[in-house]
Amino acid sequence: MAALPPPNDPSTDPSCSDLIAARSLLRFDPMAGLLMDGVPLAAIADAAGTPTWAYSAVTMRARYRALASAMADLNLDARVHYAVKANDSRAVLALFSGEGAGADVVSGGELLKARQAGIPASRIVYSGVGKTEHELRLALSEDIGQINVESAEELAMLSCLADSLGRRARVALRVNPDVDAGTNDKIATGRAEDKFGIPYADAAALYALAATLPGIEPIGLATHIGSQILALAPYREAFARIAELVAALRENGLRVSTVDCGGGLGIPYRNEPAPSPAGLAACMKAAFGRLDVRLAMEPGRWLVGSAGVLLASVVLVKQSPPERFIVLDAGMNELVRPAMYDAWHGIVPVSAADAIAPPVPASVVGPVCESGDTFARSRLLPPLAPKARVAILDAGAYGAVMSSTYNARPLAAEVWVDNERWSVIRDRQAIETLWERERLPA
Ligand SMILES: *Cc1c(COP(=O)(O)O)cnc(C)c1O
Repeated sequence: MAALPPPNDPSTDPSCSDLIAARSLLRFDPMAGLLMDGVPLAAIADAAGTPTWAYSAVTMRARYRALASAMADLNLDARVHYAVKANDSRAVLALFSGEGAGADVVSGGELLKARQAGIPASRIVYSGVGKTEHELRLALSEDIGQINVESAEELAMLSCLADSLGRRARVALRVNPDVDAGTNDKIATGRAEDKFGIPYADAAALYALAATLPGIEPIGLATHIGSQILALAPYREAFARIAELVAALRENGLRVSTVDCGGGLGIPYRNEPAPSPAGLAACMKAAFGRLDVRLAMEPGRWLVGSAGVLLASVVLVKQSPPERFIVLDAGMNELVRPAMYDAWHGIVPVSAADAIAPPVPASVVGPVCESGDTFARSRLLPPLAPKARVAILDAGAYGAVMSSTYNARPLAAEVWVDNERWSVIRDRQAIETLWERERLPA
């Protein structure tokens, strides 16, 4: 990690052509401009307007299969539960459902969306620190495969609820292994100071207690140490601790049949070296291979992040020396990752003419009334004119799902690209619907 360049040093930024060359879904055509799986992104922007999200189904499918085969290659019995929160579009859920994936959900809404997309209840895992009574009831009535319990308090509440409904909840205890995944503070979840999971030191006693509760059937352990993890060492460390716990529980005569290894596998946004699913599979095998447990994982970003772009148009270019601001019609209300996590996203021109113009440094910003509404600083881009289109890359995960209507900006359209064809999978929100659920006070 220490060898990585600092995240915002423009002299080490990859060029637009490097960014495109590193992404199999993108190609530059000298006439049609930037293509996603053969479809000109300019044609999508013309028809659907901007800002618009575009997703490559081919990429999502290929990545799911690559992940599944990395597990199969090591003879790992590992189920993939797609982390719905990364991108909960029905088209995305239906695609993974069709591939045989289960779902990792973190709310009643996600649970129902996953069910509605055809994911069987038995393949749904429910995680999260604040499941309400109403949501736990829903999970029990749907009889989902596994509830990942994150505290002693939640375990007690779930046991009472399940018992009163005449059920036993299949529970994995989500353990906080106290490892630092080396990721952004806001997406680290596996350190002792993070709100997630049961403290490692308390887990064995709580598991033993769980086995005595009327509404609970403890089936195993779960962990999830963070998101956008770019090194395997934190996984190795966390899995080793979980494996130790499995052995300790069994020594005490407790049954442990499953280990849920969580998600978090990172992707290159800039040109960072990122670990492969094969590397993750090897870590899982090394820790759990001899334990005779059924394994599960909860990848989100790795499956969908690089499969999406956010298309935007240039509103104007504001000269305010020494700065040059390229102002887009997309803002932080669409893609919040740069504002929230200091995330770096590639930005490339869509038109063929723009692509060959010599680049000059500019800041790329949105129209929202916040200085944080900045996609990039000192970025080398061609001198884009008003109405020029750009694609903000790797926006398939934690993009549309985190959008808001801040500044009364309607939610953007979403487009599906599959086998050289494309279609709208979510219409741009109509302005009137921004206030249709509001009432003036009497
Ligand atoms: C967010 C989350 C995931 C997915 O994380 P990615 O970084 O998108 O892979 C998996 N499991 C849990 C419990 C989560 O909260």
